[in-house]
Amino acid sequence: MASTIDFDFRNKLLKMHGALSLTYCYQCGTCSGGCPVAKETNGKYNPRRIIEKSLLGMKDKLIKDPVLWQCTLCDTCDESCPQKVELTEIFYVLKNLAVKEGFVPDAYKAQSTAVFDNGVAVPYMAPMIRARKELGLEQNLEENIVIPVQELQTLMEATGMKEIVDKFKAEKSAAAPAPKPSE
Ligand code: SF4
Ligand code: SF4
Repeated sequence: MASTIDFDFRNKLLKMHGALSLTYCYQCGTCSGGCPVAKETNGKYNPRRIIEKSLLGMKDKLIKDPVLWQCTLCDTCDESCPQKVELTEIFYVLKNLAVKEGFVPDAYKAQSTAVFDNGVAVPYMAPMIRARKELGLEQNLEENIVIPVQELQTLMEATGMKEIVDKFKAEKSAAAPAPKPSE
């Protein structure tokens, strides 16, 4: 993937909340050494490189690359960084920018839509309910949701997330095959 250094992007990033600590990085690699996702992906996911590309303002290589979304936000890198770079805050900022520009993996689109519609990322499905019944577990799962769906939707509307979810839904219906005409 070709990419150019975008100083405007770098400067914009540095002004965003939590991203200024980016400049403290001296590329020691401690973050990557302790990152469980880097280990699991044999280095394909590499937090040090994400910080390096951010410092260089390599916007396209950052926000268009789905690898950005592989971080589990476990905070191991934040805790081990000798320079106190706030890596996970920076990753939030980058992901928010990716969302604004429309580069979101389908799995995240589906998950945020499920949270908006059902109040949970993985809606309760018949096999789950059946398994719970067999194990003698609580059946009335709706009552166990910490925040009622309507309240969650109000919060998502206030933060602008509803607008984003509406966009995901519109994209999905536009991509769906047209129904076959009935014979
Ligand atoms: S551990 Fe900190 S200083 Fe070292 S490469 Fe990672 S972000 Fe940079
Ligand atoms: S927060 Fe992300 S980048 Fe940092 S160690 Fe955990 S998985 Fe790796």
